[in-house]
Amino acid sequence: MANTSILVVGGGFSGLTAALEAAEVGHEVFIVEKNPFLGGRVAQLNKYFPKLCPPSCGLEIQFQRVKNNPLVKVLTMAEVTGVSGGPGNYEVSVSIKPRHVGPGAADLSGDAAALSASVPSEFELGMGTRKALYMDMPFAFPHRYVLDKANLTENEAKALAANEAIDLAEQEKSITLNVGAIIYATGWKPYDMTNLTNLGAGMVPNVVSNMQLERLAAPSGPTKGRIVRPTDGAAPKRVAFVQCAGSRDENHLNYCSYICCMASLKQAAYIREQMPETDVVIYYIDLRTPGRYENFKQRILADEKIKTVKGKVAKIEASGGNVKVTVEDAVTGLKGEDVFDMVVLATGMQPTLAGAPLPKGVEVDQDGFLVNGEEKGIFAAGCAKLPLDVMKSAQSATGAALKAIQTVRGR
Ligand code: SF4
Repeated sequence: MANTSILVVGGGFSGLTAALEAAEVGHEVFIVEKNPFLGGRVAQLNKYFPKLCPPSCGLEIQFQRVKNNPLVKVLTMAEVTGVSGGPGNYEVSVSIKPRHVGPGAADLSGDAAALSASVPSEFELGMGTRKALYMDMPFAFPHRYVLDKANLTENEAKALAANEAIDLAEQEKSITLNVGAIIYATGWKPYDMTNLTNLGAGMVPNVVSNMQLERLAAPSGPTKGRIVRPTDGAAPKRVAFVQCAGSRDENHLNYCSYICCMASLKQAAYIREQMPETDVVIYYIDLRTPGRYENFKQRILADEKIKTVKGKVAKIEASGGNVKVTVEDAVTGLKGEDVFDMVVLATGMQPTLAGAPLPKGVEVDQDGFLVNGEEKGIFAAGCAKLPLDVMKSAQSATGAALKAIQTVRGR
């Protein structure tokens, strides 16, 4: 008889959607998330389409639904290490890293603040720091601290050991899950900017990625929502956006990342709302605003302080404390230079599975997108399958949940 439980790998927007769709029609669902908190990329955004609301407006509702549904079991800091069996009867090995903080722990913010070292925050994408004891995501779920033991001093470890909520001896453990179908909702990672050497990424100060700009613009971010230059904290007077930074390029990502034109238009609006005197220039090859978003583009570009230049940016260099952009104008064919206070690279999305070790039975294409193994009962949802925005990711996750349900019900 088929096992009717479903495994969802990934606890971002797609994973949560797929898990809830299946659990709310009566299936036991396991969410396996490698990070300490659920929410994925959406949690890092300042605002997201289509309504341009903050991440809390979608995620908090999903977290409540997960919390209130005993059929959803959440495993954080967990990764799938092996898959065997077949549709209706999978055996999945999962490795779980120690969190060192027990469930139901009291507020540990005082203990966290007392720690000496600050380390770069993964959540802030290099734009901010966290303590070794941390819960650095707003409205974090699970609402439980994580202890990064490696960054404690001996004395700090001794002091924390006295707290009964903390278990410094906790070890990594392995468990086995038995499920009938698997949904991969592993999402995406920002393309590694340091590969874009001609665009100065990682070397030229005041060049940031679009995801880093989201953290600067977010009220929960390292600057409490002020968009400033990383080097001196000054408000930029001239900002350039460089589209297709790494996308549609056979040396990097050989496809259109789908979301980054919309992201730059949205971020140009963030800048103009905060800094009415600031000028924005968007360098683009094509400005893609699919479906209903054409009106949004027209509205943003009606602002006379936002200009667009159709041209390929060839080089980005430091120029004093500013950033020099060399661009070949696609209309005039002329090469020109301009200097900005800050440059935002519209870096594309790369599937998280690209380059990652894959359990047996899971296949990806040459770009790292999951190849649906429908006959195997393994399904891809959201950006594990192809580049998508949040709304389309949720639709894709609903479809994957339906297919998984059909598999475990034998229909
Ligand atoms: Fe380039 Fe826009 Fe496609 Fe992103 S969405 S890859 S910026 S055309």
